[in-house]
Amino acid sequence: MAKRYASLRERLDANSVPVPFCGCAIWTGATRRAAAGEYGKINVRSRLRYRERSGAWRSDRDGQRKIKSLAAHRLSLALHLDVAYSKLNHVAHRCNVTLCINPLHLRSTTQRDNEADKRRASIF
Ligand SMILES: [Zn+2]
Repeated sequence: MAKRYASLRERLDANSVPVPFCGCAIWTGATRRAAAGEYGKINVRSRLRYRERSGAWRSDRDGQRKIKSLAAHRLSLALHLDVAYSKLNHVAHRCNVTLCINPLHLRSTTQRDNEADKRRASIF
């Protein structure tokens, strides 16, 4: 039986190793190979819901439980920004270390695209 963690943040921290100087937090759990590199993955048994009203992440106890495989770095950034996992379209690494889950090394390209759109909009 897998160890139980008080929070997803705690689980992410327990499954990563901080690297001095560069600040990367290298994921040591399960991984997934993709064309761009190797990425951390985390299986979540409960259904995750972001409650807009309370502004908190909660697992859905009443719904049917199914295992979801989430990208560890994307989950890390979602928790850090306190936004729903599904709201982050694509999460890119500033440090180019695909196994890094330090939220400060990550950015949502959706955010950047939004900013670029804003800049474009201000030109015309
Ligand atoms: Zn990093």
